[in-house]
Amino acid sequence: MKSYFSSLACASCSFLLGACGIVSADSASDTVTIDYKAIVGSCESKNTILMICDGCGYNQIAAADFYENGSLHTQPYDLFPVILSLSTWSLSSYVYDPEAVSKDPKWVLKGPTDSGASATAFATGTKTTNGKIGVDKNNSSLLNLTEQAAQIGKSAGVVSTMPFSHATPAGFVAHNASRNNYEEIAKNMVYDSKADVIIGAGHPLYDNDGKPTTSPQYNYVGGEDTWNQLVGGTAKNKEGSWTFIERKNSFDSLADGLGKLPKRLIGVAQAYYTLQEERSNGNAGTDTVGQVPFNTTVPELSTMSTVALRILSQDTAGFFLMIEGGAIDGAGHSNFIARNIEEKMDFNKAVRTVIAWIEKNGGWENNLLVITGDHETGYLTGPQGIYQVAADSFAVDYDLVNNGKGKIPGYSWNTGNHTNQLVPLFAKGSCADAFPATAINHDPVRGSYTDNAAVGKTLLQILTKKNGK
Ligand SMILES: [Zn+2]
Repeated sequence: MKSYFSSLACASCSFLLGACGIVSADSASDTVTIDYKAIVGSCESKNTILMICDGCGYNQIAAADFYENGSLHTQPYDLFPVILSLSTWSLSSYVYDPEAVSKDPKWVLKGPTDSGASATAFATGTKTTNGKIGVDKNNSSLLNLTEQAAQIGKSAGVVSTMPFSHATPAGFVAHNASRNNYEEIAKNMVYDSKADVIIGAGHPLYDNDGKPTTSPQYNYVGGEDTWNQLVGGTAKNKEGSWTFIERKNSFDSLADGLGKLPKRLIGVAQAYYTLQEERSNGNAGTDTVGQVPFNTTVPELSTMSTVALRILSQDTAGFFLMIEGGAIDGAGHSNFIARNIEEKMDFNKAVRTVIAWIEKNGGWENNLLVITGDHETGYLTGPQGIYQVAADSFAVDYDLVNNGKGKIPGYSWNTGNHTNQLVPLFAKGSCADAFPATAINHDPVRGSYTDNAAVGKTLLQILTKKNGK
């Protein structure tokens, strides 16, 4: 079998995955060298689409599978030719250690990554510390996939169900020492970036129910002046002027092919922090799926994704697009199972839309689709959760209980935070074969696993190819 990484890797792996079980990521030297150029080889992809399910591990997928279809592995990505696991640790975290996890199910609760560091790893191929956006641990800017795409003449964009300046979309476009500097990050994206499409929430004049607010909050859109320039059509970044939309019917029209497509677009849906997940009324902790009526004045992720695909695909050179189901993470933090399933179903619908678009627009020979999570949130398990079996020993009831289609499965949450668990990765299309070669580590439960920074390095390499087929 062809080897893509140096022999040094084996020694360093066994050191990193040693019995101590706590290897501070920041102290672990990056000695595993994969030859990404060799892995990608001569393959080309005209378009590259990365879909990130924020806060999704195996059980977030399982919960939605049970609810939507009454059984596991029922999504189109379950039939993708490449299915791997992925480690998500950051430099504020611990190198994922299968041996430690097998000994102690609580190990994954220690020091997980945040979405900023994980997005940065995917977008730049470089691990950083938590809270960073597109910069390394010393705050030096890193080349991201949006910039790499621009460098070879392709377009690029980001879509999210969260404010467009939130950690995940920001990680693919902006550079900032702190994810919390929303106003700076939004300005960076609007004025100084190479992006061609930016779509998300964060609307300053609407609340989480999609209703006009009497106390505008401009932080997520770069302050009041930036907002006025966006609405007034005078804002532009390094690629050119922005067209701006905000109404649901504007998103719907562009998705349906009505009217003239703009060359470049910022779309801010009329909701503040999330499109749906933070809507009020009812009791989100105990309600079932859809019990509180959905906001009707905002688009779905599927619609926003179609708008992005239609605009970016005007570029005959191809594009890079990141699509995030961002609020799945928030539901995990809140331990709201129904909201978690709602958001995952919205993501699954977007996946079906993207696949249908690919099949009508050049097929899998011209398009690469990668679907993964940036970390798990909530440590979602079966009803017993983590339980004590001896004085110093714990076990986990990992499997959700299937209660059938349309019913919430038996479950339990075990944290309000992220975890350091492996998450799944699915890939199909041009250059998808590159990813198994990056899965150089092995987990006894999940099998071969790759890593968020390795995926980033692979995507950057794919995006060095100027001409798609
Ligand atoms: Zn989170």
